[in-house]
Amino acid sequence: MDRKPYKTPFRKNSVTKFVCPTCTKGNLKVKENSFLYQETRSSRLAHSHDAWDPDWIDYVYSCLFECTNSACKEVVSSTGTGFVDQDFYYDENGNPDVNYDDYFRPVYFEPHLCFFSIPKATPDSVTDEVNTSFSLIFSDPASSSNHVRIALEHLLTFLKIKRFNTKNGKRLYLNLHQRIDLLPQKYDHVKDLFFAVKWLGNAGSHSGQEVTIDDVFDSYELLSEILSEVFENKRESAKSLAKRINKKKGPK
Ligand SMILES: [Zn+2]
Repeated sequence: MDRKPYKTPFRKNSVTKFVCPTCTKGNLKVKENSFLYQETRSSRLAHSHDAWDPDWIDYVYSCLFECTNSACKEVVSSTGTGFVDQDFYYDENGNPDVNYDDYFRPVYFEPHLCFFSIPKATPDSVTDEVNTSFSLIFSDPASSSNHVRIALEHLLTFLKIKRFNTKNGKRLYLNLHQRIDLLPQKYDHVKDLFFAVKWLGNAGSHSGQEVTIDDVFDSYELLSEILSEVFENKRESAKSLAKRINKKKGPK
């Protein structure tokens, strides 16, 4: 997945590289006449300051995006913030000059964007948490990351990894690390990925540690690999088995 478009501010008339969450084929383009933006109050008040400069400007925006795939044309609403940035260039006489342009960063999308495709066989308990994470990535990366961790807990439960030991009639809950350690041998090749998601999710659940959008994208890369190993690998190995049998035209 190319994460760059989601970290780069967009201009209001451009086709973005945000992938349509419905068809996953088209990109999102701002729908004509739907883009509204204004300077915030504090930004307006700052104009009277002696040292004021255009790059002090702060905006809020709202708009509708439309999918560029003509067979889809999904509409997605979005709100977010904006700013002014300088563009340095050389004029026709070779003299340096500066242009100011407005740029915008999304905070919310409805429906939310999707950052990897979740295998169909994934249980709802995991899928729901991943979707919640997708919806929060721009507004609250720490919380978004925490939902990936919860998805992992649900995945372990689905894989029948126990959640607690019982001692003297009392439940002693296992932490995520202990549960990952209980994964059966057939998941040995993805155990490291489980642990890596756990570390990233830990940062999201404990205050004081800043979680960036990049950290969340890292956990998406790991989790999507885990899900495809757990829920699609069977199909892959069946495919390669079929291939071998077909090649030999008989039992392997
Ligand atoms: Zn679409």
